[in-house]
Formats: sequence, structure tokens, C-alpha cells
Amino acid sequence: MGSPKLRSARSVAKSMLARNPAANSTRRVVVLLYHSVSDTAPHASATPQAFREQLAWLQRACEVVPLERILDRANGDHSGRPVVAITFDDGYADNYEHAWPALVEYKLPATFFISTGLIDGWDLVNQRFMRLQDAQATDVVGLSWSQIKEMHASGMEFGAHTVSHANLGRLDDDAARWEIGESKARLESQLGKATNCFAYPFGKPKHHYTPRTVELVREAGFDMAAAVNDRSLRSTEDAFRIPRMSVNQDDLATLQAKVAGRFDPLGLWQERAPQWLSHLVSPANSHRDVASLRHVPNS
Ligand SMILES: [Zn+2]
Repeated sequence: MGSPKLRSARSVAKSMLARNPAANSTRRVVVLLYHSVSDTAPHASATPQAFREQLAWLQRACEVVPLERILDRANGDHSGRPVVAITFDDGYADNYEHAWPALVEYKLPATFFISTGLIDGWDLVNQRFMRLQDAQATDVVGLSWSQIKEMHASGMEFGAHTVSHANLGRLDDDAARWEIGESKARLESQLGKATNCFAYPFGKPKHHYTPRTVELVREAGFDMAAAVNDRSLRSTEDAFRIPRMSVNQDDLATLQAKVAGRFDPLGLWQERAPQWLSHLVSPANSHRDVASLRHVPNS
């Protein structure tokens, strides 16, 4: 998204950050965020082939841990290899087709945050994802519950990501409570176990969740919540504001640079920049009017 000028400015910034010599690759604790793994989807985080290359490197050079253990690792000692957790948002069917078999092959854990309306095939939620991702209907097909159960049985974890992928930062309490609580209840009834992790849709601090959103997520019974913020974890990280670095069709060198902490200045800037300035630089951060679809009749 964004104008060609903006895109080229971003790519210059990306290559400068990738060479940032201040970072080092040891004692890093990082959560990666993927969406689709696909050869065709415009919102693909990686092609299936690039994803496998990334997993091969992560397995070799990093210690990949389940997301639930990431805070302990950020607080404690570790071996010197970067510690990484792998997460996916939304719940696209290509995660089953392309990501899961590769994760199983490399014996790496991952957590999948799903928007239950996408899994339940709500037309309006599908249309929302098509619009948000500028994608065809075939590129925003959700996982099925049977695929989710199969992945879960193999050791993958699942977390809630609302029902209709609304911007929680803009909802009133009733609508936000429903989006958070209903997605948790639906996932728990399907998996037959408690779901303790949540991920904020869109995920940018200040834009898409507020201190009130954090309170509501905590009240709903979650133990941790993941955001989107391009930096590694500190030892003092808040369990309800876990930063995650988006993978955006990165080549292996860029992914390595992210894990090494070379993009951390960007994450700090995202946290500290005034809202008007970050909207200007990254209009995709806004998603202001993405309302809950709770009261819209489903067809
Ligand atoms: Zn999402």
C-alpha cells in the first residue's frame, strides 16, 4: 500500500536498517509475524519456498520456542543464539497447505491467531479481508475447523484474533468485549481447551489498541496479547503488549537483519512517534473505520 514515492522511501529505509551496525545477533528475543504463505496472495508474507528457507535458517541459527515461553526467555538467560517465536495472524487456509507441513518437517512450534468469522465463513468477514488485503476471494479462504484441530493435535497452538477483525481501538466496550470474548469462546469450544493468547487486529500501539483494550482482553481471561511492533523484546516486556516483527516478503538477509535487531530503531520510532506523524508515513496504520460486524446480519 502507499504511493510509489512512499514505497521507495520505505525500501531505502529498509536497506539502511539492514546495514545498521549497532545491532548484534546474540541475546535477541524476537517474535515473527506471518500472514499468508502463498505464491499468489498479494498479502503473502512469504512464498512457500522462501518460508522453508527461513525455517531452515531459524532451526540452524536460532532457538525457536513456543510463544507462551517468550516472556520467560526475554527475562532470563539464554544460550547466546537468538530466541525466536513464530506466529501467524488471521487463519488463512494456505497456512495449512504450505506453512504447517514445513513447520512439522523442521520440528518447529508456531502459534496461529485466528479471526473466527473467517473460519466460520461469514460472507461479510470474507469481503472485509478481500478489501483489506486487496485480494481475490480465493486468496482469503479461511482454515476449516478440522484443519485447525489437525494442526493443534500436532502441537501447534491457537489464539484468538477477534470475530470480524475489527479495529478494537475504535470500538465501544460492548462491541470490543463481544469481539474478544466471542472469538475466545468459539475457539475454546472447538479445541476443547482454554485459549490464553490473543492478538490485536492490525496490532499497532495507539492505532489499534488502547489501555482500555488491554483491560478488556485481560478481563476476558487471556494471559498474554500480541501486538505488531518491529522490535525485539526487552527484559521488562508487558505480557499484553508483546511486540512482533512482520515478515513482508523478506529475503533471507532481511529476515536475519530483523532477528539481529537491526530494525529495532523502527519499532522504537513506531512506539514513540506522534499518531499524526505515523499516519502520514504509514497510512496503512490507520484502519480507523473497521467496525465490528456483530450487528450486521450475516448472509
Ligand atoms: Zn490480522
